[in-house]
Amino acid sequence: MTVNVLVELSNRNIDKTFSYLVPVNMEEDIKIGVRVKVPFGKQKLEGFIMEINNSKTDDLKEIYEVVDKDVILNEELLKLGYYIKDKTLCTLISAYQAMLPKALKAKNNTIINKSYNKYIELNISKEELSSIKLNEKQQLIINEIKNGNNSKDILSKISISSLKNLLTKEIVKEVKVENYRLKSNNDIDYPIYKLNEEQKIVVREILSSNDKTFLLHGVTGSGKTEVYMELIKQMLSNNKTAIVLVPEISLTPQMVDRFKSRFNNNIAILHSRLSEGEKYDEYRKIANGLVKIVIGARSAVFAPLKNIGIIIIDEEHTTTYKQESNPKYNAIDVAIERAKTHNAKVVLGSATPSLESYSKTLVHIYHLVKLTKRANQKPLPEVTIVDMNEEKKKGSYFSKLLIDKINEKLEKKEQILLLLNRRGYASFITCSNCGYVSKCPNCDVTLTYHKSSGMERCHYCGYAAPSREECPSCHEKSVKNLGVGTEKIEEELNKLFNARVLRMDLDTTGYKGAHEKIIKSFKKHEYDILLGTQMIAKGLDFQNVTLVGVINADTSLMIPNFRSSEYTFDLLSQVAGRSGRSEKNGSVIIQTFNKDHYAIKLSKTQDYETFFKQEMNIRKKLNYPPYCYLVSIKVISTDYELVKKESNIIAKKLKENLSNTIVLGPSIGSIFKIKNTYRFGITLKYKKEDNLYSYLEKLLNYYKTNTKITLDIDFNPIL
Ligand code: ADP
Ligand code: ZN
Repeated sequence: MTVNVLVELSNRNIDKTFSYLVPVNMEEDIKIGVRVKVPFGKQKLEGFIMEINNSKTDDLKEIYEVVDKDVILNEELLKLGYYIKDKTLCTLISAYQAMLPKALKAKNNTIINKSYNKYIELNISKEELSSIKLNEKQQLIINEIKNGNNSKDILSKISISSLKNLLTKEIVKEVKVENYRLKSNNDIDYPIYKLNEEQKIVVREILSSNDKTFLLHGVTGSGKTEVYMELIKQMLSNNKTAIVLVPEISLTPQMVDRFKSRFNNNIAILHSRLSEGEKYDEYRKIANGLVKIVIGARSAVFAPLKNIGIIIIDEEHTTTYKQESNPKYNAIDVAIERAKTHNAKVVLGSATPSLESYSKTLVHIYHLVKLTKRANQKPLPEVTIVDMNEEKKKGSYFSKLLIDKINEKLEKKEQILLLLNRRGYASFITCSNCGYVSKCPNCDVTLTYHKSSGMERCHYCGYAAPSREECPSCHEKSVKNLGVGTEKIEEELNKLFNARVLRMDLDTTGYKGAHEKIIKSFKKHEYDILLGTQMIAKGLDFQNVTLVGVINADTSLMIPNFRSSEYTFDLLSQVAGRSGRSEKNGSVIIQTFNKDHYAIKLSKTQDYETFFKQEMNIRKKLNYPPYCYLVSIKVISTDYELVKKESNIIAKKLKENLSNTIVLGPSIGSIFKIKNTYRFGITLKYKKEDNLYSYLEKLLNYYKTNTKITLDIDFNPIL
């Protein structure tokens, strides 16, 4: 028997299988999709069996071992790998690796063991037992076992030597039961609501329609989560399973709690903050059919559930569904592809759908369903936009209105959410004497001052250096920190108000469980003000929050990207939706220097349809998605002259070979130098281009042996 194995190396030069001989004693464990260890040149590598042949070939090397007896990649996932390779032009192995938790990836020397609970059971009948003479400790142990207290750990405490003795005499035996590490603390009970009319109609329409992909457009607080749970309930009653994708699970612990409260232990959770052991266990629960629902971030879309009935993607507009490293897949596309195989439904939910998704409803590629009112009958919060051009003259980051409102809420013992989408203390470090600006030596970006650590940091590569008063250029002591980040605002809040302030941004959430801890303590009202970056904008449901303030709504407008207006509208609508979610009415104050910008004006009423129309007009004029597709090509090298020359050649070739495509560039990107490598960008715009994939593949293959140039291709890039 011989097998064709796809090995762990993700390299275009070896993006194919290699044949090996199977030693006879391993033959019975050989199945397609099983992980094996093989010799490869001088190395020992892991890989997956892709094909089995019964040919008799002697000159092949033998596989070393079958790593695990279970099939790691089932038939569906194997097929899905080819889909991802075709859509992103990645190597096949990288597509499979993206689907698996680390413990199951093909990767030599990652050892993550199953965890077991050990129990002791009687190994002989009671009659036999009565004829054996036991000492006092041994009798004690036997009694405990008979009473059902048979954990090995506990019995060992009575007497290890007696227990060992019983084991060697084979009076008792040890049994191992797999232990799943992730423990759920399911202490919260969420009420089950009777669906309101709108919700009922949506559920009925999704279940009865023959369409497969739905966009659920529901304003914040309209009860989308209740709709998801009802849909899943229906699926489970038909013996089907469900996947729920959320943008970032540690930011949505409440969502998970609500699902757990409804579906108990029928849920596995997959996200990046779990330990590798926990991920492995959750994955096996799914593969072994122990759970019917999977909730997780992007990669949970690959969960090996059988008989999938529905895949729900909450906050579908979020950028996290697109993976930014290879393979650059979009979880929405993968969900739709998997749904085809399972004949399942896909529901994309959002209060602010992406323009791409919403425009697909207009041409009936997606089926639009709507929730137009808040589920608890409350009106949307009242939004006030404050012009900071006027307020700035007073020299404060806070407008008078925001200060007054914060004081009013503090007095009433209500809570406040403040958004500033920039972390650190100052986002711009400059010399007021000579104009020197502090920049990262590895990247082409300005450094951010972090006061608590006294460091200047690069938010791209992590570079950090002690901050200094003296300008390195003119040597005057005139370095100033301009711009403002969450750390600075926290300091200001503590000066201005007698309030307990909690900050949530990348710097305060570095450790495991940090998000949950912050959210819980704010929920318990251990703090009055929660200040944070976009992390606080999504999904949180704090009953006592009646004021949301946006310190500076313009940070996301400044991003040099054609989606900056869309991001701004999303962010403001989402964060506004956090206010007044219970009995008390909520208000929202948005501070901005661009009060007449439509993305800001329209977020006041969360008027998505009008925003959609205006933004579509602009996209049409400038020929941007959804009016065309984009491909972003990056030509990367440490050699500046080389990368400049090659990128010009590539752009020329693309123009010659892709007649229906607009080729833009090569140009120096908004960030030209990252981690000491130079990058030139080429952008392709097309509506229909038959040669596109084959030509780009040719290009990748041409450069695959060139060690000095890296080509990075991103289809439908997000950033
Ligand atoms: P969304 O996911 O659209 O933001 P949620 O599902 O979180 O909305 O619902 C918002 C709030 O309304 C939650 O507190 C939820 O418990 C409540 N809710 C949802 N559906 C109903 C209903 N049918 N009746 C009463 N309250 C509801
Ligand atoms: Zn840097």
